[in-house]
Amino acid sequence: MREFLKTLGENYRILEIEEEVSTYLQICEIMRKYPKEALIFHNIRETNMKIVSGICNTREKIAKAMGVDVSGIIQRIVEATENPVPIDRYQDAKNFFEVSKKPEMTELPVPTYYKKDGGPYITAGVIIAKDPDTGVRNASIHRILVLGEDRLTARIVPRHLHTYYQRAESMDEPLEIAIAIGMNPATLLATTTSVSITTDELEVANNFQMGEMSLINCETVDLEVPECEILLEGEILPYERAAEGPFVDLTDTYDVVRQEPVIQLSRAHYRENPLYHAIMPAGNEHKLLQGLPQEPRIFQAVQNTVPTVKNVVLTDGGCCWLHAAVSIQKQTQGDGKNVIMAALSAHPSLKHCVVVDEDVNILDPEDLEYAMATRVKGDDDIIIVPLARGSSLDPSATSDGTTTKVGVDATKPLDKKEKYERVSQTL
Ligand code: MN
Repeated sequence: MREFLKTLGENYRILEIEEEVSTYLQICEIMRKYPKEALIFHNIRETNMKIVSGICNTREKIAKAMGVDVSGIIQRIVEATENPVPIDRYQDAKNFFEVSKKPEMTELPVPTYYKKDGGPYITAGVIIAKDPDTGVRNASIHRILVLGEDRLTARIVPRHLHTYYQRAESMDEPLEIAIAIGMNPATLLATTTSVSITTDELEVANNFQMGEMSLINCETVDLEVPECEILLEGEILPYERAAEGPFVDLTDTYDVVRQEPVIQLSRAHYRENPLYHAIMPAGNEHKLLQGLPQEPRIFQAVQNTVPTVKNVVLTDGGCCWLHAAVSIQKQTQGDGKNVIMAALSAHPSLKHCVVVDEDVNILDPEDLEYAMATRVKGDDDIIIVPLARGSSLDPSATSDGTTTKVGVDATKPLDKKEKYERVSQTL
């Protein structure tokens, strides 16, 4: 992370905040004022550690971390997820970190973002674990609620880590985990890709790092983690549960309280003057890290049906989750509708999808609206699919998890192309 901050500082403004601020609500208040800036909070009332935020809150910064242009992000993610690179460089935690001690969570500047939050939440913590059956490593980001000095609970959605702890629980065993905080955005992004349960996300991260990634051997658990600022070691206890929530999700609305597994910490490691990475819920950093890795999946699914797909974006206004815009070079009448069906099924949380021609910039909301205003006839160009499975994050979804999906084909009819030509673009 501190290596990336140097690169970031050379290319973007980093706002250094010297005034004293509290982790309780104040940090979040300042983050909301600067949605696209990188921030470093130097003076935290409750602890000696600094907080960093916004290191990957724009597509440009993420592209920089991946060593590509914004237009190359999707292809780079596809390349990395299809070609994980095994890691053979290891070092011990006690050599990498300056401080190793018993866990004391009050030493960390964990923010409480909003008044109704269930408590202080770690939001950039990557949980690393190994499958008790196969030994395959998993790395994934979870929101983590601090319960006490050495106790946490985390929202663990039914994916790989969930499968791991259930397998451990069925053998009456705890599941060893490590929580890494403060790493390079490309590594963070690798942990949010939807690869198969037999693929190690850290090997995807190693592809981003051109095979040069080195891992740190933990001290009290049999796990290896990426280089980070703060490392917590511990285990998910079998059968124990605690109330997790409320907490704000991608949609800027409160998620419900659930009973989630309890994490018992055994060890903490810090780099010298560690930089604690805090991600504001529903902020750009959160939306991009969660949503961006879904774009390649949609791109690939659309490409299978319409090979001339140009670009896919989960738009900011759609929380980088519920709305997709797809641009294509239309070759056959009806391509737009097929794209809609492919996109809606590739990302099950997708609710609305708009398809446009390649002369429309899908990163520009005004351009998208222009396409809908001038190229859509409601009776011909809109598909409505009622009662489809939707996103649990969508406040308008029904209690059985279904929603209505809508696709808008905003592409030009092939036989009247000149009528739709944008004159200012032909000059
Ligand atoms: Mn996995």
